[in-house]
Amino acid sequence: MPKQITVAPRPFRVFTRRDLDRIPQLQRLGADERLAMQAVAQVLPFRVNDYVCDELIDWDRVPDDPMFQLTFPQPGMLAPDDLARIVDLLRRGAPDDEVQRHARQIQQAMNPHPAGQVELNVPRLDGEPLPGMQHKYRETVLFFPSSGQTCHTYCTYCFRWPQFVGLDELKFAAREADRLAEYLRRHPEVNSVLFTGGDPMVMKTRVLRRYLEPLLAPELDHIVSIRIGTKAPAYWPHRFTTDADADDLLRLFEQVHAAGRHIAIMAHYSHPRELATPTAQAAVERLGCAGATIRCQAPLIRRVNDDAAVWADLWKRQIVLGAVPYYLFVERDTGPRHYFEVPLARAFEIFTTAYRRVSGLGRTVRGPSMSALPGKVLVDGVADVAGERVFVLKFLQARDPQWVNRVFFARYDETATWLDQLQPAFGESEWWFEPAIRAMLQADWQPQWGDRSRVQKRVTALGHVEWE
Ligand SMILES: *Cc1c(COP(=O)(O)O)cnc(C)c1O
Repeated sequence: MPKQITVAPRPFRVFTRRDLDRIPQLQRLGADERLAMQAVAQVLPFRVNDYVCDELIDWDRVPDDPMFQLTFPQPGMLAPDDLARIVDLLRRGAPDDEVQRHARQIQQAMNPHPAGQVELNVPRLDGEPLPGMQHKYRETVLFFPSSGQTCHTYCTYCFRWPQFVGLDELKFAAREADRLAEYLRRHPEVNSVLFTGGDPMVMKTRVLRRYLEPLLAPELDHIVSIRIGTKAPAYWPHRFTTDADADDLLRLFEQVHAAGRHIAIMAHYSHPRELATPTAQAAVERLGCAGATIRCQAPLIRRVNDDAAVWADLWKRQIVLGAVPYYLFVERDTGPRHYFEVPLARAFEIFTTAYRRVSGLGRTVRGPSMSALPGKVLVDGVADVAGERVFVLKFLQARDPQWVNRVFFARYDETATWLDQLQPAFGESEWWFEPAIRAMLQADWQPQWGDRSRVQKRVTALGHVEWE
């Protein structure tokens, strides 16, 4: 018998920038600090729920508390001039549209669309772009349901920050699900669908059901796994325990499992505290009972989790609960990155120290991994080769499937924080994949895996279709 954990229901209450002054715990901050917070929240999205405020933040350690840094706007996230400009407008009581005009200028300078997100990844159906999808890696389609484009709480460093503009409309669900199913019918090379957002778990179960059920059709049996990327197990575990439709949600996952698909919850856990509450533990327990596997991923963020002890503790707690450590990401090159970024060399060190402290059960985790324009690039090691210190890099995912699992070498650099700041080692003038990337950036390029004349189809013993 699994350990029974009982948890009390809690109504979902959320605060946005308009309600900053209504958050009781913030009253302990000074007026200037609150004004600075207001100013940052004009530029970067802010949303927090009272479970996060009451159970996850240690208010005696504010402002250094990692969960506070993770969820509340911090003055250092804006350049001093930008911050001063917005603070001044707010002090003068400037009209909202004027404040917003200045805020937008600052946003534009923050690289809102890194890694070719907008231009390169959008798939087509009969020549028409499908804006709610990304198909960057052959095996996996990313799907952004329009009713899942918000979160229970926003992370301050989020790389998807520009998309939280608000448009949710439940009626999109059926039409979008139809187009997704049609795309997948025509793409037998895909074997995994990853629902992402925002956070798909903000959807009510009846809406989510509209998206998931069509994927269970027998003609889509090349879909081996359905994944849901979510922070709800950390920020709103009640979604899986006591919310009115929590039981129905678990029945839906059981149904996916019974239809012969793997259901994976790609849970975003940033800090061990997120797994320390009874509700958070009960959520993991219940998901497991419904046949879902929880795989855990998060970026390494300065001031939040840039400490090997924190990661070792996080992975150990995951193992205790039967969840699987999956990825440690490098903070992306967007938004307030200067505030959060950690050099690759340091990230590798933190990762390695923590990795050494867990048993093989925790070493399912891979990292530090950069989701960059050419693919997911792992910093796999530091080595001295032929008198040169290098980073050993490796493609975990790539726009060209042939690059996957290939290693390559960059000159060691103590301060670089992203792939574009690294130089190829051994005197190479550019990366070997750069000509191919340039070709992909040409207008109208589409990946070859969609071109049946250029790839060979093979049916495996299990009846799965593969393209080589
Ligand atoms: C990370 C990612 C995936 C999934 O990659 P896995 O290695 O299978 O977890 C798919 N598409 C995009 C665009 C991604 O960034």
